[in-house]
Amino acid sequence: MTDPNDPLRVIPTDAPPVGACRQTGTSLPPLTLMGEHDLCPGCGEPLALRQILDAIDEMGMSQRAIGTIGIGCYTALTSLMDIDLIQALHGRAPSVATGAKRMLPENLVFTLQGDGDMVNEGLQEVIHTAARGENVTCILLNNGVFGETGGHMTATTVLGQRTKNSIEGRDAGEHGYPILIGDLLARLQGTAYCARASVHDAKGVHRTRRFLDRAFESQMKGQGFSFVEILTMCPTGWFLPTAEGPDYLDQELGAVHEVGELKKDGVLIEA
Ligand code: SF4
Repeated sequence: MTDPNDPLRVIPTDAPPVGACRQTGTSLPPLTLMGEHDLCPGCGEPLALRQILDAIDEMGMSQRAIGTIGIGCYTALTSLMDIDLIQALHGRAPSVATGAKRMLPENLVFTLQGDGDMVNEGLQEVIHTAARGENVTCILLNNGVFGETGGHMTATTVLGQRTKNSIEGRDAGEHGYPILIGDLLARLQGTAYCARASVHDAKGVHRTRRFLDRAFESQMKGQGFSFVEILTMCPTGWFLPTAEGPDYLDQELGAVHEVGELKKDGVLIEA
């Protein structure tokens, strides 16, 4: 008979476990203040946030991490994060992070921004921060829409993608082409580390965590600017049933914004 109090017990798989939900535990993950959030079912942003907090915790930096937060649906998650945070104006998080890091160089300083915030409203901020080689980490949650304000097109929306104001799909002739921000930042000399990941499946979540670890390590070594773009699902903004979000991300956004490392130790990684 298996002892239910044994933390290393093997749960038999030959029949559905009795009281299965009680076997999953109830403790919160580290650096998380509560178990619920207000984002839509199927949203990828909480998955990305989990990886960021885990990376900070495992580096032992929870008392010396400072996040500067943009404007977007993820802003609702900041009340869950048990680290120091600064709320920046639209697009200005990289400049706020620059000031925090220059004042407190021993701290781990990062931004958390969406594609509307970073690539539309604040594009010059992140480009200049990278070009100066500021020793901060900028993290982009890219879902190709302004989710918080209703799902409008952003600068990263891929051709053919339906949004609230490109209901027939983004058209290059009318709306221009998507900006591949990771590829752009990787080419700046001040950028030491640059990568693009996604959270549409378990492998993607694992890769996201690995890239975050490397970006934070790069910052703590003082190598210069580091950047991690994380593709996240927004089934609400994509007019999709929740369950179709991960495949859409993989096959549509992921086909244009390709995942992988783009720069390591200041050296571009050619495809
Ligand atoms: S609108 Fe999109 S990004 Fe915003 S919470 Fe809903 S799924 Fe997430």
